[in-house]
Amino acid sequence: MLFSIMYYGYRKNKRNVQLAFYDELTGLPNQTYLEDHLEELLTHGKQKKVALMMLNCNNFKVLNMTYGYRYGNDILKEMAKKLGDITGKNSKIFRFDGDRFAVVVGDYKDKNQLRELGEEVLNLFKHPISTAAGSQFLSMELSIVENKNQENTTEKMIQDAALALSGINHNEQFAISFYEETMEDQLKRQDRIEKALRECIMNPHDEQFFLAYQPKLNLETNAVIGFEALARLHVEGAGSISPLEFISIAEERHLIYELGNLIFWKTGQFLTRLKENGYEDLIVSVNVSGIQLLRETFLTDFQNILKISDIRPQCLELEITESVLLSNYELVNRKLQQIKEKGIRISLDDFGTGFSSLSRLRDMNIDIVKIDKYFIDKIVDHGEDKLITADIISMAHKFGLQAVAEGVEEKKQMDYLKKYHCDVVQGYYISKPLSQNDAILFLQGV
Ligand code: C2E
Ligand code: CA
Ligand code: CA
Repeated sequence: MLFSIMYYGYRKNKRNVQLAFYDELTGLPNQTYLEDHLEELLTHGKQKKVALMMLNCNNFKVLNMTYGYRYGNDILKEMAKKLGDITGKNSKIFRFDGDRFAVVVGDYKDKNQLRELGEEVLNLFKHPISTAAGSQFLSMELSIVENKNQENTTEKMIQDAALALSGINHNEQFAISFYEETMEDQLKRQDRIEKALRECIMNPHDEQFFLAYQPKLNLETNAVIGFEALARLHVEGAGSISPLEFISIAEERHLIYELGNLIFWKTGQFLTRLKENGYEDLIVSVNVSGIQLLRETFLTDFQNILKISDIRPQCLELEITESVLLSNYELVNRKLQQIKEKGIRISLDDFGTGFSSLSRLRDMNIDIVKIDKYFIDKIVDHGEDKLITADIISMAHKFGLQAVAEGVEEKKQMDYLKKYHCDVVQGYYISKPLSQNDAILFLQGV
């Protein structure tokens, strides 16, 4: 009797322990166990070195949604089984949550050894795994946090591992990311910029966000033909943020479409202002991101903004980078055709950096080639015979396109461009990007 009670108690206990510390699906130690284990190593452990690896499956959500949770569960079980292969005496594997697994590594030699182990973990998944529904490819990524300063807490290490994972570019398969302290600052800065952008989208009159306008000059007549609108963001406490930084944040955080519409709206305000001052025929060009352009509603939204802002299409030009056009050539080129049909001109920005052959210009639905600053810089320290800048200009003309030079800073460049009949120039030699007021003063020759 006593024995059976004891046995019952033991079994019950074991079952409780099982429930509390092990994941039912995979049988691996769970998150609670992980926290306990890490805590133990960090506070009482004699081991000097402790690292945490976090493994994430990129395409798990899609698989789960496409084939159902049972299929998802089978995959998780397979993953756990595979991970079993790497348990060495100094590493322990856990199911963290969802499609995330963790490996705690103790007493390792150095960062290289950690990287090797990380690669070993990823290598387990480089071949498709077999499931009831056939073989399945998994896209995995891994982050690693070392307990460098001995004051790390369990919570902080887990948080840092997740942070390092979130920084991995999803296009990069089987990537390893080591946590670095700067990541946290970077993330905070990005959050701050995102917050500012959201505020500006909510309130179009918010002065943190504005456009600067850089004049473009017709080289033959010396007349200003228009401006390029360049986005500017000023964040309190962080100063002026480069558009290269905040545009990519807006892209990553799905704000670029709304921000792009705000830019069109502000451009409309500037065009109205120009008209009020008697400059009705000037053209303002706007930079457009690929994500904006490819959105289904781009054309209709864009036309609505033109209507509301009372912008005539011939006053507007869109600058699309060569890399955007090449990344999705057929689709983008078709979109450009539709835009051109509305009477809006298209300029191919940063031309020459994207490996499109000159002859391809013939098939592109563009009006203008904007030669990248790289080719304009070359004019300064190369002999004329070594330069292909003139060839780009003549090729553009051959296909009935206008040639624009950007980043012109010196007279030598002006002379060369004039000699080879470049149509339009833009750069600090003519003027830096200006505020609305200064742009009008510039036109007035003040
Ligand atoms: P981009 O379109 O190639 O713009 C030209 C950049 O060169 C601008 O930098 C401009 O201020 C700068 N620049 C102009 N003349 C000179 C010069 O003579 N010398 C030098 N060193 N630089 C010159 P910015 O304003 O910092 O813009 C950087 C990039 O950010 C732009 O390159 C464009 O790709 C992106 N960007 C700016 N505004 C917008 C926008 O409204 N929407 C989108 N999607 N991207 C934008
Ligand atoms: Ca541009
Ligand atoms: Ca450019």
